[in-house]
Order: sequence, then structure tokens, then C-alpha cells
Amino acid sequence: MTAPRIDTDLGKIEQNTRTLADRLGVRGIRVTGITKAVMGSPGVGAAMLRGGAHGLGDSRVPNLVRLSGLDRAVSRTLIRSPMLSQAARVVDVADVSLNTEAAVLVALDRAASRAGRTHGVVLMVELGDLREGIAVDDVPEAVLAVLRHPGLRLLGLGANLACQNGVVPDDRNMGVLTALVEDVESLRGITLGTVSGGNSANLGWAMGTDDVGRIDELRLGEAILLGVDPLHRTPIPGLHTDAFTLTAEVIEVAVKPAQPWGDRAQAAFGEAPVRTGSGRVHQAILALGRQDVDPEGLHPPAGIAILGMSSDHLVVDIGDHGVAVGDEIDFGVAYGALVRAMTSPFVTRTEHPGDPVPERPGPRVRIPSSAGW
Ligand SMILES: *Cc1c(COP(=O)(O)O)cnc(C)c1O
Repeated sequence: MTAPRIDTDLGKIEQNTRTLADRLGVRGIRVTGITKAVMGSPGVGAAMLRGGAHGLGDSRVPNLVRLSGLDRAVSRTLIRSPMLSQAARVVDVADVSLNTEAAVLVALDRAASRAGRTHGVVLMVELGDLREGIAVDDVPEAVLAVLRHPGLRLLGLGANLACQNGVVPDDRNMGVLTALVEDVESLRGITLGTVSGGNSANLGWAMGTDDVGRIDELRLGEAILLGVDPLHRTPIPGLHTDAFTLTAEVIEVAVKPAQPWGDRAQAAFGEAPVRTGSGRVHQAILALGRQDVDPEGLHPPAGIAILGMSSDHLVVDIGDHGVAVGDEIDFGVAYGALVRAMTSPFVTRTEHPGDPVPERPGPRVRIPSSAGW
């Protein structure tokens, strides 16, 4: 097998999706599976759908094209505001997009009308994280603008927190979104069928709150893929955290001094990593670099420690492991490492079905809100 490679256990993705879709379903919230961290893999998209995702979303048009082989009836959402230059492509590959800009809405309307279809719009609202979003006070006007475009269909409102400034979704900001939905509905005499509360960072709130208000959708990527809550990167009980395995090959093994020698300045990527200890270390080099993966989110097996990584070399302390040139070592990945590995042309992507999916347990039990997860 070629190395480096990243393998996806599709069974674990399906099970994670099902667990989250079930837990949220009893609270009236459906799941849109987000595939941007896996470059729009149709295999992962299909696993999310089998697990109960009601639709799929991705931040990039080429990824949505990759998903286009799946069932046409599945709703596809572009979750990054479309580039103005892309409007026709967006209408072509996405049923829905998340939007904040009047000029883009004009372009989407024109492209949809020309293509003889309507394009779904969710207007994104700024709730404090200061990435995409229309100011709350300006939303009623933006709603009117969408309603005036014959090529557009207003599905509802949405928000995104935690990604840019780590603002935590809570009863206060989600309450603002619910209140805004109700204001807009009564002001414009419409009903909004989609209130997309946010991403994986909303899960703690959604499972813990007494009242989800009007929030009826979450867009989930990281929680499904990695089984963690992105607010603290803690594992979510009941989910798999090891659906991905990154494998690299050893190209040098040697016993080397623990400390470098000679005058020292910066290393390839800034300050040199600190090497501790004295004496000697059992060191290995793997053919894996920053062009393949982000070292921050790379988890070595127990007993192996990362000493540093440059463009093409990962240096590890292999401790007592008997490792030889040509051996492969498996790593777990966190979000940054996953995204880099999935998008690197040097990393081969493989997928396997995983173990048989267990039968769905009998009658579903409503999780009391005090139980958190
Ligand atoms: C990336 C993204 C998501 C999914 O985020 P996760 O943390 O992976 O769940 C949802 N919505 C928007 C707008 C995004 O950019």
C-alpha cells in the first residue's frame, strides 16, 4: 500500500451520525452532514445519509460536485457565502446556499432564473462570533430582498458561532435567533421552515438546554467525523473518535544524542522544537511532513513522541518500540491534521466499510436535559 495514506472507517461515520441524529431528533433538530473536512467524499456523504442526516453541506463548489453522484433527492447546501463570480456554478451544484450579501443574491437570482429553477437561501445572522452574518437589525430588510427575487426561495435563517472567535452557543444568542425568526415571520407574514442554529459547537447547548426555541437544524462536521465537541475538543460519549487513521512509513531509525550540537538559530518553520533530556534517544524519521499533515493534531501511538516536523520529515522518539526502516506507524488525527491530510495531493485517501453496523436499539429513550450528553 502507498504511504502516507489516510483511511476512513465509514461504519464509524455512519454510527456517529446516527447517534447524533437520534439525540437531536427527539429535540426537533435535524442534522445536515458537513463534508468539507473530507473534501466532499461521496463515501462519507453516503455514510452520513445512511446514519440519518437529512441533507449534506460543504463549503466548496468542487466538493459539492464530488457529492453530485449521490441521490439527487438529497439536499445539498453550500455553507460558505458564494463568491459573486461563482453564482451560476452554485445554482448548478447546490440546492441551497447560506448568504449575507445583497449583490450575491441578485446574481443567484439571475443564475437560477436563467437555469429555469429556484435556489434556496438561508440568510446568516451575526450573533457575535464576527465571521459571516447580517446584523440582526438589518435582517428584516434582507428577508424582503430575498422574497422579491423570483429565482430565490427563502428557507430561513441561520447562524454560525465558535469558528472565528470561539463564541459559545448558549440560550442567549440562540434565543436572539429564535426571537428574530418570530419577528420576521410576523412582520412579513411568512413561515420559516429552516432555522440552522450552527455547527458542532452547538451540540453542548442543544443537548443541555431546556428549550431549543425555533432551532430545527444543525450543520455537523467535526462531531460526526471525529466524535469530539469542538469547544473543548473533548470526546462526546457514545461516539467513535477513531474513524480516521493516518499511516506513514519509517525511512530512518537511529540512536542519536538527545541534544543537537553547534550554534543554533531558527529551524525550517521558525523556533526549533525543544528537545528535553540528555543522553541518547531512539529516533525514527517518517516520510510525512507539513505538506501532508498538520503536526498539531497528529496523535502518535502510546510510547511514541513527536520531536518535530518539517516539510517532509516527521521525527519521533520511538522509545522501546522495535521499529525498522520500511515499517508503518498509524496516527490518529484531530481536525487540523484531518483537513490537511485530506486535502494534500501527497496523501492517498482510502475508505472501508468498517464493522457491521449494530441493530438500532429498541424503543428510543428521550434523554433528560439534565443528563447533558
Ligand atoms: C465548517 C462549518 C460547519 C461545520 O462545522 P463543524 O464544526 O465541523 O461541525 C457548519 N457551518 C458552517 C458555516 C461552517 O463553515
